Amino acid sequence: MPGFPRLKESYDVVIVGGGHAGLQAALKTALLNHKGALIDRGPKFGRSYYAPVMDNIPGFPNGISGHALLDLQAEAVRKVDAWVSYFSPAVATGVRRTESGYEVPFEWLKQTQVAKGKAVVLAQGVVDRMLEVGGEIKPIFPWANQALVDFCIFCDGHTLGAKSIGVLGHDAFAVRTALDLLHFGPTSVEILTHGHPLLEGSPPAEADELRGALHEKGVTHFDGVVTGFDELREKKFGVRFADGSHRSYDKGFSALGWYQLNQSIPRSLGCRFDGDGYVVTDEDCRAIADATGEPIPGLYCVGDQRNGWNQIPESWATAERAIIHAYSYYL
Ligand SMILES: Cc1cc2nc3c(=O)[nH]c(=O)nc-3n(C[C@H](O)[C@H](O)[C@H](O)COP(=O)(O)OP(=O)(O)OC[C@H]3O[C@@H](n4cnc5c(N)ncnc54)[C@H](O)[C@@H]3O)c2cc1C
Repeated sequence: MPGFPRLKESYDVVIVGGGHAGLQAALKTALLNHKGALIDRGPKFGRSYYAPVMDNIPGFPNGISGHALLDLQAEAVRKVDAWVSYFSPAVATGVRRTESGYEVPFEWLKQTQVAKGKAVVLAQGVVDRMLEVGGEIKPIFPWANQALVDFCIFCDGHTLGAKSIGVLGHDAFAVRTALDLLHFGPTSVEILTHGHPLLEGSPPAEADELRGALHEKGVTHFDGVVTGFDELREKKFGVRFADGSHRSYDKGFSALGWYQLNQSIPRSLGCRFDGDGYVVTDEDCRAIADATGEPIPGLYCVGDQRNGWNQIPESWATAERAIIHAYSYYL
């Protein structure tokens, strides 16, 4: 746990969200001798916290868990506490633009505080949608925590070769994901629609095209309502259905998308969003104003929240770009 930082009168950069992107932004701020405030709700709300092993992180040839990587990044930020005030657990409730920059109200230790900064970096990430079984999202956690259910093709596709896969989802995104997984050479792919009609809501032409592709590639689907999971001890993804049937896969793959893309703060600041709901930025990660198509002065968006590829090395790169740009232009 971080100590108790003192709120300074003002900062050069206020960073909202302390996952991989926000922590890197905070570290870089300090390394450039600028004052930063880092406001984070806590690692348990970050996307990688439950990733048991990540294989694409430079410097970790045997992989590293998301949890351990966040700890290492947080440790580096605590070492620069002369420059960075690290508020966690703390929740930013909004961002206001002022004549001299920005004000970020946040809840910390049961009090409302306001961090003032010349620039703001939004690094709030996104939150994965979980399958609801009997109205609860908990049932799948043990399988997800043991990497028996994956969430990201770029992160885990390479672990799916020669495996049977049950894909959770029913819409066009789920179908496209199931087809994409074939690239990694699984023995079989089956879509589990959890009681929804396959491709419900898709325009007829798209639905026809995708059904044709599923048929051609031998990807099956099953419409049964999921009532629970088993075979954890056997390191399998066993699924029980309401009709009393049971199916067993080597791996599950969640293709349910995201609950929300943390849009309320960027929306209140007039940011532009892409078709998938991500904040649009330029190459320096400056948030683009929807009204003008121009960068909003002093406002950056990094990591998963911006349009990009939702990977940790990219979250670091975007954080670096944003802080170096802020250093050069606004500070
Ligand atoms: C199961 C799984 C496995 C993955 N495996 C890999 C992998 O192997 N390799 C890889 O490169 N990537 C992997 N990823 C993707 C990776 O986790 C994300 O790309 C990365 O976490 C993005 O970092 P971020 O900082 O943008 O967002 P996050 O890590 O999600 O962090 C966002 C932070 O913002 C905070 N926050 C949000 N709103 C507020 C607010 N209002 N006030 C204060 N704080 C707030 C949250 O508490 C959180 O700490 C995986 C993802 C998942 C789900």
